[in-house]
Amino acid sequence: MTETETNLYDVVVLGAGPVGENVADRTRAAGLTTAVVESELVGGECSYWACMPSKALLRPVIARADARRLPGLRQAVQGPLDTAAVLARRNWYTGDWTDDGQVDWLKSIGADLYRGQGRLTGPRTVSVGDRVLTARHAVVVATGTRAALPALPGLAEVRPWTSREATSAQSAPGRLVVVGGGVVATEMATAWQALGSQVTLLVRGKGLLDRMEPFAGELVAEALTEAGADVRTGTSVASVTRTDGVVVVVTDSGERIEADEILFAVGRAPRTDDIGLETVGLEPGSWLAVDDSLRVDGTDWLYAVGDVNHRALLTHQGKYQARIAGAAIAARAAGTSLAQADPWSAHAATADHESVPQVVFTDPEAASVGLSLAEAEAAGHRVRAVDVDMSSVAGAGLYAEGYKGRARMVVDLEREILRGVTFVGPGVGELVHSATVAVVGQVPIARLWHAVPSYPTISEVWLRLLEAFRDS
Ligand SMILES: Cc1cc2nc3c(=O)[nH]c(=O)nc-3n(C[C@H](O)[C@H](O)[C@H](O)COP(=O)(O)OP(=O)(O)OC[C@H]3O[C@@H](n4cnc5c(N)ncnc54)[C@H](O)[C@@H]3O)c2cc1C
Repeated sequence: MTETETNLYDVVVLGAGPVGENVADRTRAAGLTTAVVESELVGGECSYWACMPSKALLRPVIARADARRLPGLRQAVQGPLDTAAVLARRNWYTGDWTDDGQVDWLKSIGADLYRGQGRLTGPRTVSVGDRVLTARHAVVVATGTRAALPALPGLAEVRPWTSREATSAQSAPGRLVVVGGGVVATEMATAWQALGSQVTLLVRGKGLLDRMEPFAGELVAEALTEAGADVRTGTSVASVTRTDGVVVVVTDSGERIEADEILFAVGRAPRTDDIGLETVGLEPGSWLAVDDSLRVDGTDWLYAVGDVNHRALLTHQGKYQARIAGAAIAARAAGTSLAQADPWSAHAATADHESVPQVVFTDPEAASVGLSLAEAEAAGHRVRAVDVDMSSVAGAGLYAEGYKGRARMVVDLEREILRGVTFVGPGVGELVHSATVAVVGQVPIARLWHAVPSYPTISEVWLRLLEAFRDS
């Protein structure tokens, strides 16, 4: 047994995904010594098996779909995608699954990297192999999530794809069954159908993207079907086997589907089962509940930031939390009360509650911020939804012939502000930040009339939404 080495830091961060990296960036900027522990690749799930590779796969798919909607250009893009070139560009975006660049960046901010599985061994202490790291001020758990798999007998022998294989595969399977109806399932079904696979999408519920306004899932399902995918709603997997390389799925209604691969995209599980939570009185395998400064309930030194706290499983939201946690740790280390430290409440992750933005990179894109109508009603707000067919907007017609899309604004009738906005249609991903500013800023509807969208952009949908509200 090697002699245990002890190192003392102000802050120890478990996990170097986008969130752990950003916590370290903030604590280093505040002058706190910081150790970062990573068991796989610096950059985390997002860089190698999630956001970056999935969007690298989808970008040519969406660009081709947009080009096909323009007379004069359509004829030039009738052929199939060059799948090998798309995959090669995706490989480049992941650095071929090496992390040298991000390791250099960690060094450049002055954080120390420890490679290995980090585990809490008690309050303020973390072991990594033979080393023990002790934190003066804070330990930050930023260990993220892994794909959750259903409890189907014999599933391991089937070697199913999870989001990792779906984002890193080096060729398109001939036939791919995708199980799930959420963001990962719809994005990966869109990508692989366009890259050459015959996709069958099995969705347990009534429709796709069920956390968004219902029309989002309807428009995406329609487009996936037009692209050649077989979308089956109200369908669960009863059993799955693999014989001589062929996957056989039997659905709950007894249908039999053969495929070359099967992707399960049915949810995420926190990576907290093997990080020593039991040594500090917490439940291994649980999501970690935190307050608005991202500090774990009932402790004064443990923080949980990013996916692992289950507030909003998105990179941008996790990085936002990281900025807040970093500032809160620095303020507490300096003995400053959080209210004094920042009058703009940079120490409270309030945007996690009712103004989370998200873009789903399907064709059409679906983008939303804040609450859907159903969520706003459930939260007890007195609201009215106004809908607009986006094809009525001049900029949308110019963007794509036969533009199909829809927008909804959920208006709080008491305060006359927006609780949520959803856009579905080609090119709407870049539109959502205007809605985020309106929702987070609680801009009064009367004032929004003076935010004049440029002509002829798709943003003129804002005028149509305001007119629809005025006339409703
Ligand atoms: C297919 C897919 C596509 C996605 N696309 C988007 C997108 O377009 N936009 C978006 O905003 N979000 C997207 N997400 C969500 C996004 O990936 C996550 O929200 C984000 O990665 C969370 O960051 P994190 O740092 O909290 O966790 P992770 O990125 O999961 O990083 C956690 C890190 O901790 C390390 N770790 C775990 N346990 C330990 C331990 N005990 N010791 C040391 N290290 C440990 C892991 O190896 C990992 O590197 C997508 C997710 C998936 C699955």
